[in-house]
Amino acid sequence: MIIKTVNLETVCGVTSRLPENDKPEIAFAGKSNVGKSSLINALMNRKSYARISAQPGKTQTINFYNINEALYYVDLPGYGYAKVSLAEKEKWGRMIENYLKKSRQLKCVFLLVDIRHEPSVNDRQMYDWIVHNGYEPVVIATKLDKIKRSQLQKQLKLLRSGLGIGNQVMVIPFSAETKQGRDEIWNLIEQLTSG
Ligand code: GDP
Repeated sequence: MIIKTVNLETVCGVTSRLPENDKPEIAFAGKSNVGKSSLINALMNRKSYARISAQPGKTQTINFYNINEALYYVDLPGYGYAKVSLAEKEKWGRMIENYLKKSRQLKCVFLLVDIRHEPSVNDRQMYDWIVHNGYEPVVIATKLDKIKRSQLQKQLKLLRSGLGIGNQVMVIPFSAETKQGRDEIWNLIEQLTSG
């Protein structure tokens, strides 16, 4: 995919109304620190347009990035940050649920999980929640450069069993350091958002 223009068009807080976009949307979900900003930056061909979190879990907003005036990347707030209060977690849940239910343009949710670790209870809940809302998540296994090539198959197996998914669900390993996996994700986004 050739990135011509990138524009952070809408930032939604808890009480904001969601935009009624007329272009396809691709959403990104994952626990804080999983590498979501890094992935989004890589998919925008930008170094630090999406904020890379110095303080994980701080900003609970849904950010809509207009890409090429053709589609949106939707950055959902990261979950699972321990220091956030229960009230904050509830707010977070309502925001995401509202978005998943109301968006008319959402084509796919990418769920990010760290390739090094077994998925958490929160990851699994998020996966099930996306499915429950009628979407087929695509899993992005982040930080690929942090494992040895020889560990890849074992980690992918752990990831699938942790999320409770079979081989029919797409899992794409990705590294923001080497950009491995980026073309595959771009191709998929183009397929999902064309026509
Ligand atoms: P977010 O909280 O999910 O948006 O995560 P960030 O993109 O801010 O990344 C969290 C931390 O992980 C930062 O220190 C990043 O530099 C690092 N990181 C993210 N992706 C990768 C990756 O693919 N490889 C490596 N080695 N580090 C990464």
